Amino acid sequence: MMLTAGDLKKIAPGAIIKENEPMSEHTTFKVGGPARIFVMPTGETEVELLTRACRKAHEAFEVIGRGSNLLVSDRGYNGVIICIGEGFGRIITMKEGIEAEAGAGLIAVSTAARKASFTGLEFACGIPGSLGGAIAMNAGAYGGEMKDVVKWVKVLDREGRIRQIPGSAMNFRYRGSRVFDEGMIVLSAFLDLFHGNKKEIELRVNELLAARREKQPLEYPSAGSTFKRPEGYYAGALIEQAGLKGFTVGGAQVSEKHAGFVINRGGASADDIMRLCRAVQERVYENSGVRLEMEVRTLGEFD
Ligand SMILES: Cc1cc2nc3c(=O)[nH]c(=O)nc-3n(C[C@H](O)[C@H](O)[C@H](O)COP(=O)(O)OP(=O)(O)OC[C@H]3O[C@@H](n4cnc5c(N)ncnc54)[C@H](O)[C@@H]3O)c2cc1C
Repeated sequence: MMLTAGDLKKIAPGAIIKENEPMSEHTTFKVGGPARIFVMPTGETEVELLTRACRKAHEAFEVIGRGSNLLVSDRGYNGVIICIGEGFGRIITMKEGIEAEAGAGLIAVSTAARKASFTGLEFACGIPGSLGGAIAMNAGAYGGEMKDVVKWVKVLDREGRIRQIPGSAMNFRYRGSRVFDEGMIVLSAFLDLFHGNKKEIELRVNELLAARREKQPLEYPSAGSTFKRPEGYYAGALIEQAGLKGFTVGGAQVSEKHAGFVINRGGASADDIMRLCRAVQERVYENSGVRLEMEVRTLGEFD
């Protein structure tokens, strides 16, 4: 029997729960059809109870953070989306680093680090995901990645157990981690940081933000770099060499400013974006023999 919003409200009274919630409102691409049930829990106990209820009812569920690396199908998701975001975002500055809940914005965590004169998280100052999403993805930029700073991660595993795992056992790799291998849910983490010089930290942050503004099409909805960087190449350069800068399918476009970004120029559907990505993969392969792999993760069904 399918769970209803009412069933979940009884399990997690503090959570925001909606039915037929458009996922376009929860993804930075601004596309995606309705989630049958959309839940925003406010703490780890709620996540534990909600996932247990879904498993017991054989209800499909998926976890998302800020939806900044996500392409959700126009048909939406026929199950429960558990969104670990605001309301699950406590950030605590400690002596040797920062402990934060998975729903905290990575930008907010990076700001907290800067304010406490901690160095090590400057690279994350412009990455618009949640801490949980950043750990799952091993998000990185400008020479830094989550792997470098994560001391431990508290997760809910597939068996419903809450465990603390050292960063060194998280199998962090380029844009992936053990979170995906074992279907874990990140609940919180401790980031090991060093005391630095506040002025230098601020300078570096401002430099990185300026570089993003200059190079990235931040004025359009997107999910950041659409494709992974193939070894020995840059995805953007390969796309440009294949003559695809500005290439358009419906409302989706390969950014003119940065060919590594697919943008929603206005009114794009998830299908437009997916068709454009497949065409880019095909044409880049024809032109260079390199197969581009999606960095953006998909949710729901695509043709
Ligand atoms: C303008 C822009 C710039 C970007 N720049 C960068 C960049 O420089 N470097 C970079 O690496 N990325 C970048 N990104 C992509 C994105 O911000 C990161 O991948 C980010 O870490 C995703 O976090 P999220 O919370 O939005 O995850 P979502 O998009 O919500 O989810 C991504 C994946 O993580 C999983 N997930 C999310 N939260 C959890 C959790 N708590 N537990 C378990 N699994 C979870 C989801 O199931 C999904 O598979 C950029 C995106 C944009 C829009």
